[in-house]
Amino acid sequence: MAPAQPLPDGIPVLIAGGGPVGLALAALLARHGVRSLVLEADAGYCTGSRAICISRRSQEILATAGAGDALAAKALPWTGGRSFWRNQQVLQFRMPSEPTERFAPMVNIQQYHVEAFVHEALQRVPELVQVAWSTRVTGVQPAGEGVDVEVADATGTRRIRADWLVACDGGRSTVREQLGLQLEGTQYEGRYVIVDIVQKTKRPVERLAWFDPPSNPGSTLLMHRQPDDVWRIDYQLRDDEDGAEALKAENILPRVRSHLAMIGEDAPWELLWASMYNAKCLTLPAYRHGRVLFAGDAAHLVPIFGVRGLNSGLDDAANLAWKLALVLDAGADAALLDSYSQERVQAARENIAYGAKSTEFMAPPDFAFRLMREATLRVAMDDPAVRSLINPRQSAPVAYTGTPLNGPQQGAWADGVAAPGQPAPEALLQGAQGAFHLTQCFGTEFTCLVFGDGALPHAMADLAAGGVAVLDIAPDADVHGQARMRYGLPEDGATGLVLVRPDGYVMGRWRGLDPAPVLACLREKGLQP
Ligand SMILES: Cc1cc2nc3c(=O)[nH]c(=O)nc-3n(C[C@H](O)[C@H](O)[C@H](O)COP(=O)(O)OP(=O)(O)OC[C@H]3O[C@@H](n4cnc5c(N)ncnc54)[C@H](O)[C@@H]3O)c2cc1C
Repeated sequence: MAPAQPLPDGIPVLIAGGGPVGLALAALLARHGVRSLVLEADAGYCTGSRAICISRRSQEILATAGAGDALAAKALPWTGGRSFWRNQQVLQFRMPSEPTERFAPMVNIQQYHVEAFVHEALQRVPELVQVAWSTRVTGVQPAGEGVDVEVADATGTRRIRADWLVACDGGRSTVREQLGLQLEGTQYEGRYVIVDIVQKTKRPVERLAWFDPPSNPGSTLLMHRQPDDVWRIDYQLRDDEDGAEALKAENILPRVRSHLAMIGEDAPWELLWASMYNAKCLTLPAYRHGRVLFAGDAAHLVPIFGVRGLNSGLDDAANLAWKLALVLDAGADAALLDSYSQERVQAARENIAYGAKSTEFMAPPDFAFRLMREATLRVAMDDPAVRSLINPRQSAPVAYTGTPLNGPQQGAWADGVAAPGQPAPEALLQGAQGAFHLTQCFGTEFTCLVFGDGALPHAMADLAAGGVAVLDIAPDADVHGQARMRYGLPEDGATGLVLVRPDGYVMGRWRGLDPAPVLACLREKGLQP
């Protein structure tokens, strides 16, 4: 890491924790021109096996953060997987994907690579972001129009005044503890051993799950390929097994060896590292406490099954960055940040509900769940209708149905797509410079998609003057017809305006081409001066 710089006395945004969420938040704030200071207790990136499955939505966010190229060059894309009961395949699933997409539905990559790529992006904007390693937040004192943060590093302790403090300091958050806040929810008993091994393989990248496999009878086992010839193998422990014993190499090696032999992977391999995991479904009931905000694992802990931990943390960062920027730099009312809490707590509760269902399938908490799972797996062999119950329900962006930021849906639009509160769908478009994806246009400003019937109307200049980016989705831009279809205007010649938030969520939509209600909506929500 670069030599330490002196810490500033005051800063608009202080981010406690330089894990993937804290670093990504700093990068997204920098896109808005907001200065931040990231304090990270450790000397560098995380070690060991943590997040590996990064969703399409997270790839979009990481690309906005400036880490897209590095991620694409290293990560392993995948679109589906298979599940087996004993030695029979009971499910093959594919996630929605087609060749014109910008990103694969999921990529596998070690979390420390993600952290490194975002940190590299931060080093390109040193005037906006400072990362202080080996520097721990030890105290938090809300102070009127700011927060006093006590900080300790090798040179001693000091206080830094921040306008806003964002706690991204993980599951054992010091900031949470300092404010006397507690996560609410449940913790599951079932334990998984998480093992990384190095072994060359020619297998496709897919999610593989075995229930009660002959290699490890009674257990559930998951396998994922990662870059650098690493396999991630997760297997469930029996309730009567001792955790410390289970983590000894002499107990891990035979289980892994037996499974590799069963699936015919015979190249030499070595153990990289192993850890223990048990699922938690916990969240703070609110993510804003005055001038202190919570994001990522500091705000919520969701089970790894369904891969919603880091993926939802990155969504927190994307949701928060533009709102903080508006409050700090455009005079928006700080109450805007309550919508961050409302939207992301709702998302956490939804993620927890999915995560709990997946956990109950992957690590049945009692005899009744185990029995139900066995019955499902047995029936799934012959009945495709039952197979959806085994589907791992991978992470997907959550729609913000009840948020006060949603504007109207005026006039007739096709049902079920791109309504206010939903994530803005992707589309491949044609521009003067060549093909581009719609999501490349999101990230910093409000964007109005103009579905016109000819040349862009002059009135659209009012939107640009009001600080809204205007994107003309003329028929010759929408060459594949994807935008019209996915935004709910399939008929030729139908006109409409769709307002998209900086974090890529639809805010409102209006038939016709009158910009006045779009601007009125932004004004009414306090989002435009
Ligand atoms: C085995 C396993 C597998 C997982 N798989 C997936 C997956 O496939 N997909 C997925 O989306 N998620 C997955 N997750 C979850 C994912 O790892 C977490 O959700 C993610 O790390 C959260 O990022 P974060 O930045 O919020 O917190 P963290 O990664 O925990 O980072 C917090 C940072 O804050 C620092 N810190 C702590 N206290 C202080 C302090 N007082 N002062 C300063 N710094 C401090 C820590 O050193 C740390 O670097 C997995 C987790 C585990 C354990």
